[in-house]
Amino acid sequence: MKSSLQLVRVMGIPVKLHVTFLMVLPLFAWLFAQQPRPFGFAEINDVALRYAVSTAATILLFTSVLLHELSHSAVAMKYGAKINSIVLFIFGGIAMMEEIPKEPREEARIAFAGPAASFAIGGVCLAFYRILGFGSYLPLGLLILSVGYLNVVLAAFNLIPAFPMDGGRILRAMLARKYSFLVATKKAALVGKAFAIAMALVGILNPWLIIIAFIIYVGASEEESATLIHAALDGLKVKHVMRSEALEAVPPELPLTELLDLMFWGRRLGYLVADDSGVRGFVSFADVSKVPVERRPHLRVRDVMTPLPRISEDEDAINALKEMLKHNTSLLAVFADGTFKGIIHKADILRFVELVSAAASGRRHADEV
Ligand SMILES: [Zn+2]
Repeated sequence: MKSSLQLVRVMGIPVKLHVTFLMVLPLFAWLFAQQPRPFGFAEINDVALRYAVSTAATILLFTSVLLHELSHSAVAMKYGAKINSIVLFIFGGIAMMEEIPKEPREEARIAFAGPAASFAIGGVCLAFYRILGFGSYLPLGLLILSVGYLNVVLAAFNLIPAFPMDGGRILRAMLARKYSFLVATKKAALVGKAFAIAMALVGILNPWLIIIAFIIYVGASEEESATLIHAALDGLKVKHVMRSEALEAVPPELPLTELLDLMFWGRRLGYLVADDSGVRGFVSFADVSKVPVERRPHLRVRDVMTPLPRISEDEDAINALKEMLKHNTSLLAVFADGTFKGIIHKADILRFVELVSAAASGRRHADEV
């Protein structure tokens, strides 16, 4: 993520700050200074001290979010997940996990670890405040009280049973004991969306609730489609989706005008580009039509072709999608032991996802009837 900068490394995980975080930092400090207890410090009379404590509370709030994410990460790492980074942004944090374990019990434990940590921090802070009293150290006492309440709210908020909240994952894990992972995700996403709509209706006068409802709605939809793609492509290899019919190839030295003739008479809009050393790329009518007509006589196929990144036919289809994303292309050349086998197109993979998805919802309706 380019819009974030790395801060530190904890447990080997890079912790990054998103730019939105830096923008809200002063806003949060200002809000803390206006609010009464237990969340704010309006009762501290000294203005400089009030803003110093408010700034400290803001930093501690985001430290709390970081500890919440680290708690998720620690349990996930125990189950073999790799954490690429933790990004802190305006509404909290996200631990970027490479592969989230799909075993329901493991997912539930990873999801629960965050709120559990927040509850624990909140509990310790509130107990501290109770026991020590802080009569003559009011600012410090208020800071501990505030951090305590914030952590309890953080824990409770994350237990809302909707994606992208931890509660949504816990709910899915519970449903996954009865249904397949895909169906459990769809049901959990549905609960999340219903929750978001109810929240927006209740919060019609409260902008914060509407913003949160919006985030939940988008989160539920994103989780649903990401899971759908993963589940649909589960176990599917590149060789199962690739096109292996013989493709006509043209040499890279072929002039564009001749290529256009070939396309016209051959009624083909795409050709493989190959020479003696093998496949060089792919050239389509779209590549040619980007070139102004008057320049076409001066150019050759190699000037306009799109290079084809390679992928092995035994690679997972989901990795083909990731490769396409990485190279910003929708086409890959498929190889097996150094031999060209065919091409794989993004549209073919996505069509497959659609088919599986349609089949899965058909099955679900059949279950319910
Ligand atoms: Zn969490």
